[in-house]
Amino acid sequence: MDHPVAAPAPRGLLPSPLQELQDDRFTARGLRLWLKRDDLIDPELPGNKWRKLKYNLADARAAGHRTLLTFGGAYSNHIRATAAAGARYGFATIGVIRGDELADRPLNDSLRFAADRGMRLVFVDRTAYRRRAEPEYLAGLAEELGEFFAIPEGGSNPAAVRGCAELPAEIDVPYAAIAVACGTGGTLAGLAAGLPEGREALGFAVLKGDFLTADVAELQRRTYGAATGNWRVETGFHCGGYARSTPELHEFTADFEARHGIAVDEVYVGKMLYGLTELAGQGAFAPGTGIVAVKTG
Ligand SMILES: *Cc1c(COP(=O)(O)O)cnc(C)c1O
Repeated sequence: MDHPVAAPAPRGLLPSPLQELQDDRFTARGLRLWLKRDDLIDPELPGNKWRKLKYNLADARAAGHRTLLTFGGAYSNHIRATAAAGARYGFATIGVIRGDELADRPLNDSLRFAADRGMRLVFVDRTAYRRRAEPEYLAGLAEELGEFFAIPEGGSNPAAVRGCAELPAEIDVPYAAIAVACGTGGTLAGLAAGLPEGREALGFAVLKGDFLTADVAELQRRTYGAATGNWRVETGFHCGGYARSTPELHEFTADFEARHGIAVDEVYVGKMLYGLTELAGQGAFAPGTGIVAVKTG
């Protein structure tokens, strides 16, 4: 629970800046909107990836581990960030990647980046990948690959939740709601746990399915013994599923960049801002509400 070894410092801005946006879709309804620029925390470990790895790195070091092993798909930001963190802070890294067919193909940019940072890539088929949280499967991997400190897919474990729970203390503007994109939900679990009284966290699911509410509650239980009641998951803005898009989402992100001069990805942050803007347009927030949207990447 404690983290006796100091977590390493990032190479960018921490606390990350808060930037108020002038956006008529919000101001016309009496709403104020700030962007929490977690993307500026570190060039190679941006946003929530820094917050989620911070105490995992400290825990791995405290336990004397020299190798980090984690899991992800071929485009995983967490795989990239773990590879970068290992190279920088002195851990060997192994990425267990979903899809054995990828072994025979040229590496995409994400996996190339990870390999360039020294990550050993192990491609497994989908049946094996599904077992990624099972102790027997991890024991088998250790026999095959040597001892390691395991970090789950997306980095989401109690150490990650504690790291993300530190974000709200950095906010010094009047807000009632905080919004974040959700993949595995670890970031939402931490954010909500770190909120002061009377504030609400809103997670926007970027994948199809209903698993997030249960997963976020479970992560909070594992971290703190109980789930907090101050968050919910919006499932209506996944735009077809993970890494899928729609013409509306594409147009929204292009327009957002034109309005504010800030590029947003369509996989995570774009969907969250799109959903938030739709909700504001539907009158989901009372006039006078301040909203902080976390730019996780
Ligand atoms: C990984 C990632 C997320 C998802 O975080 P979870 O804790 O898995 O929900 C959100 N935004 C960006 C930019 C990411 O890279």
